[in-house]
Amino acid sequence: MSDRTERQGPIVGIDLGTTNSVVAIVVDGQPRVLDEAGESLLPSIVGINPQGQLVTGVAARNQLAAFPERTVASIKRRMGSMEPVPLGDQAFTPPEISAMILRKLRDRASRALGQPVSRAVITVPAFFDESQRQATREAADLAGLTVERIINEPTAATLVYHAGTRDRKQIAVYDFGGGTFDVSIVRLEAGVIEVLSSHGDVRLGGDDLDLKLLDHVADAFQTMHGVDLRASPQAKYRLLQSCEQAKRRLSTEESVQIAEEFIAEKAGQPLHLAATIARQAFEELIEPFIERTIQSVDTALRDAGLTIHQIDDLVLVGGSTRIPLVEERLRDEFQREPSRAVDPDLAVALGAALQAAMIDGQSVGSVLVDVTGHTLGIEACVGMSFMGPELAFSPIIHRNSPLPARYEQAYATMYDDQEEVVIHVLQGERPEVHRNRSVGKFRLQLEPGGGDRSKIVVRFDLTLDGTLKVTATQTATGIRRELIIDNALSQFQAETRSAAEQRLEDLFDGSEELIDDEDLPSRKEWLADDRDSSAGVVPSPSSMFQEAAALLAKAQAAKPSVSGQDAQDLELLCTNLQQALAGADPAAVAAVGAELEDLLFYVR
Ligand code: AMP
Repeated sequence: MSDRTERQGPIVGIDLGTTNSVVAIVVDGQPRVLDEAGESLLPSIVGINPQGQLVTGVAARNQLAAFPERTVASIKRRMGSMEPVPLGDQAFTPPEISAMILRKLRDRASRALGQPVSRAVITVPAFFDESQRQATREAADLAGLTVERIINEPTAATLVYHAGTRDRKQIAVYDFGGGTFDVSIVRLEAGVIEVLSSHGDVRLGGDDLDLKLLDHVADAFQTMHGVDLRASPQAKYRLLQSCEQAKRRLSTEESVQIAEEFIAEKAGQPLHLAATIARQAFEELIEPFIERTIQSVDTALRDAGLTIHQIDDLVLVGGSTRIPLVEERLRDEFQREPSRAVDPDLAVALGAALQAAMIDGQSVGSVLVDVTGHTLGIEACVGMSFMGPELAFSPIIHRNSPLPARYEQAYATMYDDQEEVVIHVLQGERPEVHRNRSVGKFRLQLEPGGGDRSKIVVRFDLTLDGTLKVTATQTATGIRRELIIDNALSQFQAETRSAAEQRLEDLFDGSEELIDDEDLPSRKEWLADDRDSSAGVVPSPSSMFQEAAALLAKAQAAKPSVSGQDAQDLELLCTNLQQALAGADPAAVAAVGAELEDLLFYVR
């Protein structure tokens, strides 16, 4: 620490959040969170307990449902107003309530550092106006903290990834927390960060997703038992806690159970809740919320006068950005891998700590973290055309994922009577299978059958030391097999293929398609290789037959406009396709269908 720090005490960085707050400090150039009993996040909740004592954090959260009149949450939403907030038999101003949280963070920091802490950099949303910023200063003052600087949350998050960068960069910071959402476009130039625009919804957060899931589960329970769990505050609270936990688990697991015993009763009999939620069902529920956030991204970009292509980095902040659908939509929108290596719950506090260290004259760089340098996934069939199955690389752990990483992805077999699948593990960034690197392959023997039995869940566990464990499970039967790939990470780092590939691409710029065509196996090879490439598969033969029937109808309709040899060929192929469809023979349907499709293309 510098002389100044020794004279005046350390400066901490504080993220005073709507749902949670965090305090951090820089040690040896790297920011670290100051936790208490292993907890980094302090719930931003205060209360008066039944003994009349002030409680903050987890203790206050625990009494929120039982004593709502003696507990205050989300005070950040009221900063800037001086309207009194009732707490037990007293009333406090919003800065006074915030001061209680800040006081707790200050004590936590003093204990962790073994010296009094009285100076802080505090973050606020970019959209906070002057009265809200002033209220934050007053809260700090009441907590015995001198505010060295108030900085914008997106500025802090940007520092985490780009402190020390002198280049000009334009960065989108997407912050999706528990109670609020906002996206900011910031410009970094010569070490100075400027917020160009900010847009969001202070009433949209992870809490809305919990409530949506709660409604879904409660509706199903009501249909089954005729009891509305939302009618009893206790039952509703228990269900809400369960739904929030389920939501978190769905970020890495394909499907989760929600179980609550004795959650209600009917005619003197206890009722138990047992529900299974698949990630896909959850995603359908929350999609409208995610779309609203994407619209905000477009607005923020428009307000900043920039297009998506002018954005150099996308930084994810807030616990709700761990939801795979959020990442997926952002990946589609920005056509780039987001920066999310730093825990999204801690990024703002870590950035505030970096700013604090800079004010203190310490030299800092961006945060060092362990991430995967490449995307890992499997080969999967993404559709069926008359060229045969369309195979593609299906990512499971995306590049830049913090380590250790664990993700699951569900697939379906290609046919109901399929007796095995091949799990072909790949590493790389290209959708085309052959342009990625094969890192392992194994077969999973199945108990054939349609319905549930077609579902295969593939789990990837990647440890810090680079060991990748791949587990494939036929969920309906519990049949599973795993493959352990040692040194997966060091293999990646030693991997020179991408550099070589880049050099080749530079050389052959513009002739990419030629290389692709040469590399692609012929349709015959695809069909012959069918058994081997049947890992994850979406369409069933029935959808292939439907496509073929549609093609046949198109061909019949085209007949009057075709003459000569083409007309004869068309007639013959239509007859052959009809026969293949009647025989329900997928290989024949695929082969004749492809020829017919070719012919239609030429006669059009
Ligand atoms: P924050 O306000 O940034 O602390 O974010 C808290 C929100 O993130 C809450 O709604 C949490 O339920 C949500 N959250 C935390 N972890 C996860 C996770 N793994 N998956 C989905 N949501 C999460």
